[in-house]
Amino acid sequence: MSLNDFILTNEVPIRLGCFLGVFGVMALWELMSPRRRLQTSKAVRWTNNLGLVFFNSFVLRLVFPAAAVGMAVFARGQGWGLCNYLEAPFWLAVPASVVIMDFFIWLQHVMVHAVPLLWRLHRVHHADLDIDVTTGARFHTLEILLSMLIKFAVILLLGPPVAAVVIFEVVLNATAMFNHGNVRIPETLDRLLRLVVVTPDMHRVHHSIEDDETNSNFGFNLPWWDRLFGTYRAQPRAGHVAMTIGIRTFRADKWCSWLPGMLAIPFVGKVQDYAINRRQWKSTHEQ
Ligand SMILES: [Zn+2]
Ligand SMILES: [Zn+2]
Repeated sequence: MSLNDFILTNEVPIRLGCFLGVFGVMALWELMSPRRRLQTSKAVRWTNNLGLVFFNSFVLRLVFPAAAVGMAVFARGQGWGLCNYLEAPFWLAVPASVVIMDFFIWLQHVMVHAVPLLWRLHRVHHADLDIDVTTGARFHTLEILLSMLIKFAVILLLGPPVAAVVIFEVVLNATAMFNHGNVRIPETLDRLLRLVVVTPDMHRVHHSIEDDETNSNFGFNLPWWDRLFGTYRAQPRAGHVAMTIGIRTFRADKWCSWLPGMLAIPFVGKVQDYAINRRQWKSTHEQ
């Protein structure tokens, strides 16, 4: 059985096993060596954040039952996408596809911050008043569906091997849980890790309440894109313990910590407010 076939037939246990394994390790690590004191009780955070994650998995299966893997199989069957067209060898197509897909996730992340309508969806991720392992998968259902559509388009253009799609999704899932972890990592080790992966300290800058800090460190997995495109910021100005996490406009538990509020966040506020906010942002940053 080839690696492709093995991954295709065992996709669900591979994904679930990795998710539970990494989640367990991070949860223990957070208990033993937390980086910050949580603002909201862990019971409330976990019930609601994980509630959203389960709800999203259910909706995603319902709307796109074949998911990204199905699209990769389809592209291969049609001979569509760069890898299929060039008949790229497996050993090259897998790592190249993983890196290229990671770049598109980075680009998508920049886009959901830049486009006001999409920022409404992405606010759900940022409205969390703390960040911990559960924040890593806390996204509005519509953002999850949009991500899948973008992934479909990338897969059709790229034609990655099925193994690359599963590896990418498993690795992204694992690194998202890792870099949202409320864990302490010695500075020297953090500096070394940052050369190859986005660390918790690096991603925490992105969850700052300060606009310029939020608009940096968009990477979820590979740290290179931010350095390459000038959006890298090493540390938050206020330091990791004193910094405020979240967004200014949503501070109440009703929106930030409870599932019904989180699902409602994209529909709160007038579109006009964003034009004003963006003008304010521009004027403070162009001084
Ligand atoms: Zn973001
Ligand atoms: Zn995040």
